[in-house]
Amino acid sequence: MPAMRTLDFLDGTTFTVSHDTCRGCFMNDHEHELPAILAPVLDDGIITVRQDAEWAVPRFMIVGIRPHLGSIGQIPLDLAHRLATVMHVVRQAMDEFPDICAVQTYQEEKLDRPHYHTWMLPLWKSTMDRHAINPRIYESSIPRYLELFEYRHRREAIERCAGRIRGFLRSSDLLRRQGFLPRTPHVESHPGSRRRGGVSVPCV
Ligand SMILES: [Zn+2]
Repeated sequence: MPAMRTLDFLDGTTFTVSHDTCRGCFMNDHEHELPAILAPVLDDGIITVRQDAEWAVPRFMIVGIRPHLGSIGQIPLDLAHRLATVMHVVRQAMDEFPDICAVQTYQEEKLDRPHYHTWMLPLWKSTMDRHAINPRIYESSIPRYLELFEYRHRREAIERCAGRIRGFLRSSDLLRRQGFLPRTPHVESHPGSRRRGGVSVPCV
């Protein structure tokens, strides 16, 4: 029997998968089995924006891609441009809430089977102040910050915030002009799909 591991989700849902399963590809290929709260706020068939799968920080958005590509350097340039456009608008959406004092953007390449995605983590000032959170990278207490948001107390806020961001993105003239809206058909993560939403993506 192959080695197994568990994929944990913010609402307590878990999936037991083979050890070499990529979380990004799993989420892409099992979209209908994921907690409803993770429904994308933007999905053009290649780029997805959704609440973080593990942490219950409201407005914590993950900008990901469906194809299994590991780094920004491996992504076709036109798709890299589209990613930057999406992050530009998502960051603007964060400014709707005055209590968000900054947004930390992280792009961590995992050592093992990296699947490109970027964290856009809002720093809620009231929570930061209450718990003396230091977000500076060399002395960061961001791991502690993430744990301060309990799903059972934040579920409604997460849903409300996701709805607000979805509305903001759908009303974006920039995204509409560039063809992000409406959503194009779902594509698979794995080899076989060569053309996705008007952008050519190599099979990997
Ligand atoms: Zn993957």
